Amino acid sequence: MAPFDFLWFLLPLAAASGWLVGRYGKRRRESAATEDDLRSNYFKGINYLLNEQPDKAIEAFIKVLEVDSETVETHLALGNLYRRRGEVDRAIRIHQNLIARPNLESGQRSEALLELGHDYLSAGLLDRAENLLRELADGGDYRVQALRQLIDIYEQEKDWDKAIDSARLLEKATGNHLSPVVAHYQCELAERFRESGDRDDALELARKALGTHDRCVRASILEGDILTDLDEHESAIRAYQRVEEQDADYVPETIGRIQYCYRALQRPQEMDAYLNGLMQRYGWITPMLALADLKRDRDGADKAIEFISGQLRRRPSVRGLDRLLELEMQSGDADKGAHVAILKDLTGELLADRPVYKCRHCGFPAKLLHWQCPSCKHWNSIKPIQGIEGE
Ligand SMILES: [Zn+2]
Repeated sequence: MAPFDFLWFLLPLAAASGWLVGRYGKRRRESAATEDDLRSNYFKGINYLLNEQPDKAIEAFIKVLEVDSETVETHLALGNLYRRRGEVDRAIRIHQNLIARPNLESGQRSEALLELGHDYLSAGLLDRAENLLRELADGGDYRVQALRQLIDIYEQEKDWDKAIDSARLLEKATGNHLSPVVAHYQCELAERFRESGDRDDALELARKALGTHDRCVRASILEGDILTDLDEHESAIRAYQRVEEQDADYVPETIGRIQYCYRALQRPQEMDAYLNGLMQRYGWITPMLALADLKRDRDGADKAIEFISGQLRRRPSVRGLDRLLELEMQSGDADKGAHVAILKDLTGELLADRPVYKCRHCGFPAKLLHWQCPSCKHWNSIKPIQGIEGE
């Protein structure tokens, strides 16, 4: 511990000491011995802290605080302070010590249990935290906080059935609408079935997720993917195209998938019409590049180059430039080839280092689409980046 580290730590204790000394000062006639013990333990605690012996300091402070139930708040504050500093073992000891006291009021006991649950969670002791929080989630003043922490645990454990149950209970307790999150849990279950080859159950759950939340983009994409697995390409296209009404920001995610289905159906004209429609509506890069691929396959590389060049004049894009250079290299003018290859390396490197997605809640940059932000744990907050380096 750096010398200045514990100075801030002393602030609340100094406040507590003033309060304690004042409080017990009033009881001077009742018990002078108690006050002396108190002072002695308190200063012992401070000394231990100054000598960087926090464990002995805790013991001393626990003795100070063990006087009666009115010191519980100070006790809780001390435990929380340790947890916030990452010293979870010490926080656990303080909160356990508090709970073990027989004369604790039930509200105070619940608060201490909630804090201990929080400690266990911070220490990664999920089973212990779960047992404790389930007791609190059954009823009482801390029900809502306990349910929130339980959901956090079930998400970490990927126990989606229990996460759904707890979310529904939390909905009832708070009146807040949690269907968008529950739909994600159902999608998680659907993906698990899909991975194990059980397409029927996977499809059923993806559709259930849509029933839970009709704007669930993930469920539509998942339904489309399962139908594609089953070679039901027309139905898959309908599922993917639903995304535009649900949340148009995610349409670029579906373009490659829809293109695959139209290819399987051998209906390139319909893909062409669909992409042209998207470009008119949004002017994004992904449909433009897909359209360039169609032109290359149908009319040759020169037509595709001409098309991309015209588009880039209107809307500059690193991804567009990268594709243009790739086509130039393939079209095979030997003199230009070496120069183009250098430029292509540059755009390639630029794109490789750039995140394609960003969390709209905390700003977390990502190269993959996560439905739950790995940083802030929000659902549905990561979206494709717009602008010159993105869409
Ligand atoms: Zn985030």
